[in-house]
Amino acid sequence: MIIGMMISTEPHDSLAILHELAISCLHCGLCLPACPTYAELGTESDSPRGRIYLLRALLEQRVSSPASVIAPLDRCLGCRACETACPSGVHYGQLLELARARLTEPARPVSMRSLWWRWLIRQVLPHRARFRLLIALLRLLSRSDREWMPAFLRQQIELLPPYYPAPRPVSYLPARGVCRGRAGFLSGCVMPNLYPRSNFASMQLLAEAGYEVVAPANAGCCGALQAHDGDADGAKAAALRTMAAFGDCNVVVASAAGCGAAMKAYPGEFAGRVRDLSEALLAANWQPPAQRQIERELRVVYHDPCHLAHGQGIRQAPRELLGRLGVKLVATKGAEYCCGGAGTYALLQPTLAQALMERRVDHLLAADPDLVITANPSCLMQLSYGLRKHQRALPVLHLAEILFYGYSWPKSAMASPKL
Ligand code: SF4
Ligand code: SF4
Repeated sequence: MIIGMMISTEPHDSLAILHELAISCLHCGLCLPACPTYAELGTESDSPRGRIYLLRALLEQRVSSPASVIAPLDRCLGCRACETACPSGVHYGQLLELARARLTEPARPVSMRSLWWRWLIRQVLPHRARFRLLIALLRLLSRSDREWMPAFLRQQIELLPPYYPAPRPVSYLPARGVCRGRAGFLSGCVMPNLYPRSNFASMQLLAEAGYEVVAPANAGCCGALQAHDGDADGAKAAALRTMAAFGDCNVVVASAAGCGAAMKAYPGEFAGRVRDLSEALLAANWQPPAQRQIERELRVVYHDPCHLAHGQGIRQAPRELLGRLGVKLVATKGAEYCCGGAGTYALLQPTLAQALMERRVDHLLAADPDLVITANPSCLMQLSYGLRKHQRALPVLHLAEILFYGYSWPKSAMASPKL
């Protein structure tokens, strides 16, 4: 959506598009109960309706400066639960990203804090090698005394998931059995550095399902991080590079929900070729090999990533695949609310992210699970962090890891109670 719009729309046209999106809201308020920030803060400006109202006032010059809109928009998770709830079909996700790119980011006052986060999100996280260096540094620092560290550094260290080894990454796998087409797999920027075992498992599953699998080295970040941060140029450059890298693929598969949602918003025919891993496996009628069928009775919770459930409308496919493996899922309360991970949100809005995490983890713990499964890196990090905070040594794993490895995970994947 937003990335497609950034590629095909001149910047001066985007304000008119933004206004059109804003006036499609009827102010009925039916989205309010779905909004996690409204549930937490209870203020109209932290609800979808309030944010849209503020943006519209700014566009109609009833508010003179974007400054009053920056904070409420910054506090928005971009979870798009309001889009699911809205009966009028307001495209809130588009509205938010376009508003950040064209209104709030250009007006943001320059401070050391904003410069630091802008540099990290735009110059480090989307670049695999730089990100790898950052992770290595943080893991090194995590062994030392944290008393002297500034809060933002401690926070990054605490969010780091437990390290566990992974097989060497592969860039090509032939199809097993009759080939049903060429699947391009987006390795991404976060996943290969923090969850390489999941990427390896995703590619193996696609090959098992009958796809010839390629993971082109030149397809780096999909642009989601930049789009969420209001960096229109960065998002556009990443999208164009990604589209070129997967030119010859029948389908393009993402196992990170945020990346899949971003690529489904690319312009032209490309978006129609994008699949979430669970969609691609179901379309190919993937069945787990007999020896992988799970017999052990464990209490397993599947946590819906917002960018899969609300961003792509996919809720059933992961559950169906887990069912084929023999996994028995346990339902939790509050499953419709974001865990507070939301891309870089946990770094940028630590207080609110923490409150949302507490809410979600309380519900998870009430279900007394042995294992938590999800399908997006920020959810994996945030839930693992939350469980460690609550002194619960539970593994939090990606869907692909369970589907490929069954109930077998490295000991170190158990979230250590130590932070
Ligand atoms: S995207 Fe999420 S946090 Fe933002 S207004 Fe919508 S429901 Fe609320
Ligand atoms: S976004 Fe949709 S549900 Fe929310 S107030 Fe506007 S029209 Fe109503």
